Amino acid sequence: MFNSYNLDEIRDRGRAAFVGMAIGDALGATVEFMTAPEIAAKYGIFRDIIGGGWLRLKPGQVTDDTEMALCIARAIVKSQAWSLEAIAANFAAWLKSRPVDCGDTCRKGIRSYMLHGTLETPLNEWDAGNGAAMRILPAVLFSLPDEQLLKKYAIEQAHITHNNPVSDAACVCLGQMLHLAICGAEKSRLRRQADGLVARFPTFAFEPYRGLATGYVVDTMQTVFHWFFRGKSFEECLTGTVNQGADADTTGAICGMLAGAYYGMDGIPRRWIKKMDKAVIAEIEQLADKLLEACPLGGNYR
Ligand code: MN
Ligand code: MN
Repeated sequence: MFNSYNLDEIRDRGRAAFVGMAIGDALGATVEFMTAPEIAAKYGIFRDIIGGGWLRLKPGQVTDDTEMALCIARAIVKSQAWSLEAIAANFAAWLKSRPVDCGDTCRKGIRSYMLHGTLETPLNEWDAGNGAAMRILPAVLFSLPDEQLLKKYAIEQAHITHNNPVSDAACVCLGQMLHLAICGAEKSRLRRQADGLVARFPTFAFEPYRGLATGYVVDTMQTVFHWFFRGKSFEECLTGTVNQGADADTTGAICGMLAGAYYGMDGIPRRWIKKMDKAVIAEIEQLADKLLEACPLGGNYR
């Protein structure tokens, strides 16, 4: 059955998803917590990776979104297995390293692991931030193309910090869309997946678009869906997304993984890749390859 998969293309799209995530994070971080009118007044259309922002970043520097995904990816590759313990240990080491940023819900979950060894935070109707969805990609690559495995990984990694049905639904839907995009699905197919989420959870409806891009996972996903389905290129999808402001590094990271998976490495503007730290991009590409080599498709992948 694996003959129907184009393995070179999957490798390219998997890498592009991970690189796209980092680029969206680095691009959006400059305008995080600004409003769309503030961005328009300052930049016209904001479209370059220049660093700065409230975190005073270097151009191309990534934030917690990319760093937490790297924690998960490194844990899987090192263990050559799905190990929540290894993932949580990497989160803990990362938090101790004084990262440039960390969301409140993530911090709370990681601290609970550090103090009590907790790998699943209790169900909480308020923990519907985007902090679990933003770091979904390693679970997506490592489960390809098994949808049941994807659901297990997506939700287990989420529950280290976020145990909430709305967050879970967003994580699983985003993961399924990424599986499809990495395997070469058209946007119409991805759209059906997003529409399925809206049918089950009408709060995610993104037409008409409300223009909210906060860290609430519903606002985040509405913004990503709106601009991903409207954009005609990686650059258009990302630019539209981050110019909404608010949680722009995280909407940028999520749209970047989706648009990267869809458009592939050739779709990512060179001028954006050049602004990124070369060592970070090299590690990301290597981790993407290793996650795919170890995924259920992996035996066929080499
Ligand atoms: Mn961030
Ligand atoms: Mn953010």
